Amino acid sequence: MNNDTAGSPGEEKESKTGSNRPRPRRRKPQPRPKPDQQSEKKSGDSQARSQAQKKPQQGRKPQPRRDQNLLSIVVPCYNEEESLPELALQIEKEMDQIGGKYEVIFIDDGSTDDSFGQMKMIHRRNKRFKAIQFRRNNGKSAALAIGFKEARGNIVITMDADLQDDPAEIKNLIKKIKEGYDLVSGWKKNRKDPLGKTLPSKFANFMMNKFSGLKLHDHNCGLKAYRREVVKTVKVYGEMHRYIPILAAAEGFKCTEIPVNHHARRYGKSKYGISRLLKGYLDFMTVILTTKYFKRPMHFFGSIGTLFVTSGFLVNLYLFILWLGNETYLSNRPLLIFGVALMIIGVQSFTTGLLGELLVKNTSDSTNYSISNRL
Ligand code: UDP
Ligand code: MG
Repeated sequence: MNNDTAGSPGEEKESKTGSNRPRPRRRKPQPRPKPDQQSEKKSGDSQARSQAQKKPQQGRKPQPRRDQNLLSIVVPCYNEEESLPELALQIEKEMDQIGGKYEVIFIDDGSTDDSFGQMKMIHRRNKRFKAIQFRRNNGKSAALAIGFKEARGNIVITMDADLQDDPAEIKNLIKKIKEGYDLVSGWKKNRKDPLGKTLPSKFANFMMNKFSGLKLHDHNCGLKAYRREVVKTVKVYGEMHRYIPILAAAEGFKCTEIPVNHHARRYGKSKYGISRLLKGYLDFMTVILTTKYFKRPMHFFGSIGTLFVTSGFLVNLYLFILWLGNETYLSNRPLLIFGVALMIIGVQSFTTGLLGELLVKNTSDSTNYSISNRL
């Protein structure tokens, strides 16, 4: 185990503390990438590699190496101490049947119970099980993002840590991937969750199918399989884990689904309350706008802008005609100012939100989370 911090502020500090004149940087010659890495898909891996090369390696582990024959299983976990030992046994049993090399990456998302203690015990027994511990709770998306970054396998499986997802489905997901798909999502056809969860989820799936163009019954199923290129390309931040298939499809990856077995939660409680509805809606807007209008924001904002300006002009024209005819003072119509102000504020806040999202998506290192332990 070692203490570690993902991402390092070294580069930034240098430019802040130095003189105003930019100092030319000397780069050490970098080793050439391996041939199998060269052929990897554009942005994801090559970006991650070039970032890793730029940053000083202060006590960091080197970037994980790809292993063609390895299966990576990524398991985000927040306060699931009771489920973990059984989950590990189930995964071991399943993988013994499937055969082949595998690694399991547990991400302890700042649990306050003994989840990390359980991970340590599992790791001691079976070194294929690894664990990364966040110092604080960063959310499921953050946990997945770091798991995706660490995964070395050619195929990556994600599953929840609460025993609701069934490891016996892993072989079916892999089979479907081998048919030529890039992403296979589970579909909890017979979902064992309370109505307060299933109903909003039905509505969310309906909206996603309607507006995203990708039709799935269960976009947000925790159990999924990905080809490596997908997890190295799609940026999962905030609470975007719900929309990974849409983001992947927008990148051109082939996505499909298979029905999977689902179990009721046996231990602990769900980590997602009613607040997920609002957050889910806001993230949904971001996903739809950034995937559909990302390359042509003017189509969206231009039409809204034109509509608003035209309506404003017509209202003003109407008041102007009234003023001409009856000499009514416009200062007697506060509603006009109120309406116009609302419109301007609405449009501006929406635009600001989208610009903010674009900045986050393009400039931040979305896996820059503080890690306290590694196994
Ligand atoms: N989870 C996480 N970080 C969080 C919330 C949840 O890593 O902030 C994990 C959680 O431990 C579980 C998975 O994400 O393995 C799904 O969470 P949960 O079972 O609470 O969601 P639900 O099944 O109720 O939708
Ligand atoms: Mg669950």
